[in-house]
Amino acid sequence: MKNFTEKIKRIANKTLDILFPNDFKCILCGKDLFSNEYVFCKECLLDDIFNEGNRCVKCDTIIKEGNIICDHCKNSKRFFEKCVCPLNYNDKVKNAILKFKEDNARFLARPFAELIINRLKEENIQFDIIVPVPSHIKTIKRRGYNPSLLLANEIGRILNKPVMEVLVKNVITSKQKFLNYEDRQNNLLDSMTLVDKTSIRGKTILLVDDVITTCATINTCSSLLVKAKKIYACGVARTNINI
Ligand SMILES: [Zn+2]
Ligand SMILES: [Zn+2]
Repeated sequence: MKNFTEKIKRIANKTLDILFPNDFKCILCGKDLFSNEYVFCKECLLDDIFNEGNRCVKCDTIIKEGNIICDHCKNSKRFFEKCVCPLNYNDKVKNAILKFKEDNARFLARPFAELIINRLKEENIQFDIIVPVPSHIKTIKRRGYNPSLLLANEIGRILNKPVMEVLVKNVITSKQKFLNYEDRQNNLLDSMTLVDKTSIRGKTILLVDDVITTCATINTCSSLLVKAKKIYACGVARTNINI
């Protein structure tokens, strides 16, 4: 029976590959790729797309050479151990992520997940379970999916780790950008609930989001997961606001 299920899974994956041959097009600009290129074309690779340089040890944002931690992480309590994001949220990356989040480009979950996994391996980050950042049911209905869950599922599939939707979003927090950091956190905290305490107890968690901006979302989610042993966070891209 197990073999049969595996076979079906393999066929399903193959079918998806045929429907979305994303291996042959640049995921940022859509240009055809040469056989020696993977995911990004040569021009996009030269366009500052990777989150590189001297970065905060906690939140992965670019900081001044010689510094170890950014001012935000120094001055506020972080409930997560470390956050990693492979891409820099520049215009090109932003376009691709918007397509992924708002325009049904679900096939991007796979290359994005692979990029995240590369960073997790580089940092030697090990974990037991994957928790996606939750979306409100109305947002999911509008988009048709939760992009963070798609990413979480891909990471889980590739690394063979369980995905657990233990966090639920009860309120839409649309006015976030008009609030300061502290109010953002409080607003977010009121909007989410941990629905399964027992599954996370003593576990190391990988929390998955799409874009990391102020860390307010991942920090709030992490604060609800305090019974876990350790929490790592990841996103596809990092906005770099501290330069
Ligand atoms: Zn390109
Ligand atoms: Zn930081």
